[in-house]
Amino acid sequence: MAYRRGMLRLHDTLTGTVSPLELREPGSVTIYACGPTVYDLPHLGHGRYVLVWDVLRRHLIASGLSVRFVSNITDIDDHIIERAAQEGRTEPDVAAEFEQEWFSAMAKLSVLRPDAVPHATEFVVQMVELIERLLDAGVAYQTSDGVYLEVAHVADYGLLAGQPLESLRAGARIEAHAEKKSPLDFALWKAAKPGEPVWDASFGAGRPGWHTECVVMSLDLLGEGFDLHVGGQDLKFPHHENERAQAVALGHTFCRHWGHSGWVMVGNEKMSKSLKNFTSLTDLLSTSDARAYRLLCVQSHYRAPLEVTGETIAAAEVALQRLDNMARRFRLDDLSGEPVVLSDFELDETLRQGFVEAMDDDLDTPKAFATLATAVSAANAAADDGDEARGLRLAKTVAVLLGSLGIFLKSGLSDIDVAASTLASQRDEARKNKNWSEADRLRGELEALGYTVEDRAGETFLSR
Ligand SMILES: [Zn+2]
Repeated sequence: MAYRRGMLRLHDTLTGTVSPLELREPGSVTIYACGPTVYDLPHLGHGRYVLVWDVLRRHLIASGLSVRFVSNITDIDDHIIERAAQEGRTEPDVAAEFEQEWFSAMAKLSVLRPDAVPHATEFVVQMVELIERLLDAGVAYQTSDGVYLEVAHVADYGLLAGQPLESLRAGARIEAHAEKKSPLDFALWKAAKPGEPVWDASFGAGRPGWHTECVVMSLDLLGEGFDLHVGGQDLKFPHHENERAQAVALGHTFCRHWGHSGWVMVGNEKMSKSLKNFTSLTDLLSTSDARAYRLLCVQSHYRAPLEVTGETIAAAEVALQRLDNMARRFRLDDLSGEPVVLSDFELDETLRQGFVEAMDDDLDTPKAFATLATAVSAANAAADDGDEARGLRLAKTVAVLLGSLGIFLKSGLSDIDVAASTLASQRDEARKNKNWSEADRLRGELEALGYTVEDRAGETFLSR
């Protein structure tokens, strides 16, 4: 299916409106998502923003677009240095450990690996060049502890935060930093301190500030005017504002569109480490079906806050069971986990259309999922009424559309070995011949092998 301009409408943080995603190059989408700082286990908030943008990425692929998705790893920063010092390790050692933890959690969540994973430490030369250009342009200045960007020189600073410079300045924390011209000015470069990793630069040895790496890496890998820059709500200000400020100060358009996903709530408070409601994603994934968190995210709009508790996860697991049961009932083949392209499948057209329309309307996943939940009931009802063909068509469509969200059903059929299938066929035969005692004996044998035996539409239905 070819991409029609303006097909996907997405909320743009810059304009505050839902507008068509106008692409730099029709047919292909370039996306930059800020990745993790690897100094600890990923938390639930990380899981949510990653799932939201993975759902978007998969939906664009499903719609027939080619997508280039870049997401960085911040492998040098204060937290990494602190942890390394505390544990008597090197910074690269700490970063490598938690990058591995990150990708292991992502794999469990079926999050597609980015097409490129730039590491901050690989781009320091380019960052130094950018800072030199900002100094030359007179928008940055040096202090005894580094180089700062003077935000007063950026005409529309505050656009992403949705507040003008004056009100941001009034709300800024006053720091005891005599050399900074404004509390909003931010560090592009941190001068060398004893015991910290350093890189050479014409303006003095040191290390890059966080806001500089994403500007450099996104423009380097995706080019000027790339399509979409995304991240969690917490990155909107100051991180994204400051990324954008550097690009704009040098005359770049930067990206065409900004997307931000909502908070994760624990109780009534937003998730953050400073509130001490840190719950690791690694813990959640070791105690629940990894698909449940994705389903929970899908059931809520990506810009709304999401409450993650034991109850909401358990409810998502129950919903998954109902979906898996449908896959078993209709003996659907499991999908591989790879991105689904809708045009590769024969689908129920009405269902596909309703689903895609909801997705294209600012990723209305709750509505899209609701159409699928209704279709599951319709598929079961059709089969109960003897219309197996209609039931099967709906069930297959549901499974493929769920696959386009990255939710892959498990029919459990591959768990059933040949011996059990043979016994099930013998039992069907016995029942056809009204040999009930033999059918019961075979049921007992199957149960002894660890199967749950159900009668569905005149056939023995096995699951584990
Ligand atoms: Zn970033």
